[in-house]
Amino acid sequence: MRVIDHVIAGDKTATDGATGAVFDPNRGEVQAHVRLGTAADLDRAVAAAQAAQPGWAATNPQKRARVLFAFKQLVEANMQELAELLSSEHGKVIADAKGDIQRGLDVIEFACGVPHLLKGDYTQGAGPGIDVYSMRLPVGIGAGITPFNFPAMIPMWMFGVAIACGNAFILKPSERDPSVPVRLAELMLEAGAPEGILQVVHGDKTVVDAILDHPAIGAVSFVGSSDIAHYVYKRGVAAGKRVQAMGGAKNHGIVMPDADLDQVVADLAGAAFGSAGERCMALPVVVPVGDKTAAALREKLIPAIAALRVGVSTDADAHYGPVVNAQHKARVEGWIAKGVEEGAELVVDGRGFSLQGHERGFFIGPTLFDHVTPQMESYREEIFGPVLQIVRANDFESAVRLPSEHQYGNGVAIFTRNGHAAREFAARVNVGMVGINVPIPVPVAYHSFGGWKRSAFGDVNQHGEEGVRFWTKVKTITQRWPDGSAMGTQAEDGAAARTQDAFVIPTMG
Ligand code: NAD
Repeated sequence: MRVIDHVIAGDKTATDGATGAVFDPNRGEVQAHVRLGTAADLDRAVAAAQAAQPGWAATNPQKRARVLFAFKQLVEANMQELAELLSSEHGKVIADAKGDIQRGLDVIEFACGVPHLLKGDYTQGAGPGIDVYSMRLPVGIGAGITPFNFPAMIPMWMFGVAIACGNAFILKPSERDPSVPVRLAELMLEAGAPEGILQVVHGDKTVVDAILDHPAIGAVSFVGSSDIAHYVYKRGVAAGKRVQAMGGAKNHGIVMPDADLDQVVADLAGAAFGSAGERCMALPVVVPVGDKTAAALREKLIPAIAALRVGVSTDADAHYGPVVNAQHKARVEGWIAKGVEEGAELVVDGRGFSLQGHERGFFIGPTLFDHVTPQMESYREEIFGPVLQIVRANDFESAVRLPSEHQYGNGVAIFTRNGHAAREFAARVNVGMVGINVPIPVPVAYHSFGGWKRSAFGDVNQHGEEGVRFWTKVKTITQRWPDGSAMGTQAEDGAAARTQDAFVIPTMG
């Protein structure tokens, strides 16, 4: 059976040792094995990164950007192959897999313009004869630890910007769908990146801990579930690194009485059930404001859900495919059982869904709950499956409170025709990314991505200028160039004054 190896120092390195199973979620069978790396594997990658990074940092920024430009063209040329590979391990449909890759490429395009953001600042004459300037230098070696649900986009969020800024980057992708990250590393080599600039070390907690403890790694970017994000943040920071750690989500869609309900239902179907709900920017909670809105929404949602086609990920007509593995299927179905136990009304039950010819696949039918309340655990926790929960709100104020008081604060959306309500909502809601009549408000690459509360630990977002800040450190130079020819002719008392001044904190007066 195929073994998916690390990419260390430009080689697909076969090492002995443990492997983990990679499933075909459509069939529910193991299709490959992935290496589970060790601290020694990470050490080898760090050594290769240390050898390559100074030369890469010394390469002019425009030349570095050209490598990323060539990489973008290679990814585009291989889009179909990459999308099929991604879909075969993740289970998202091919069109959605292409979206996953394209959203990553958007960041690569942004990274091609990074030289503009590395220019630094300059103040001429900050004091008498004194100039101050700053430069943005690479951190050195960065690492990324990524989740299963966007195996192309999230690695590219990280390494695109990190590498454009002159860093070497070590990727520890999800062990559940590791093949696309390997292909991306191969394409970077083909695009002209020196060996050691983008490497892949597969594994689980062992490699993650080795990354967090490694003294030569200066920055760690993490995306995954919140408990692990918090753990990564604390351990990385304790080891003196900069860490950004994005966590889980429970995004709400507020539906005001004046919303266009047909549009809302179409948007919700995609945002709640697309990719089997395995998106951190999915909309698994809908909050209709007022009983009339709730009744009308529910009436329209039921047939829309019935019309959803669940199929294998290669089925061009399927709206969504299987979830990633058997444990995750069991977990999602466990949450459905929990919702029933807690007293929510199960309107559409997706458990027990079976696809003919793929009976062992990890499929879950679309599920709808009504009368979910904030006290329920199934509301407070992330389900990360094709499950939509209706939480009814009496008025605008309580609708704003729900996402604001939730432990997660990744994304939120409001559907309304009232500009004032939308404006108030956007200003007041305690959530990091807001959509106004936009169900999945993932910011474009030149803005930045990041949630609040337990959806992100650390204070710098992914990509955009925030990403450049994360992957660079600032050096600020204060310079004075006295006129050497005049020095020897200065009076003695001038020298005494200069000596005196040296004991006072410098001011620019
Ligand atoms: P996960 O937390 O299980 O895994 C993420 C990464 O952490 C993987 O590389 C994994 O190998 C590693 N890991 C797992 N257990 C670990 C442990 N005990 N110690 C150290 N490392 C460990 O997440 P997942 O299931 O792959 O992805 C889904 C989660 O990611 C969801 O919670 C989703 O909301 C979240 N997510 C968040 C964002 C965001 O930007 N906020 C984006 C995508 C996904």
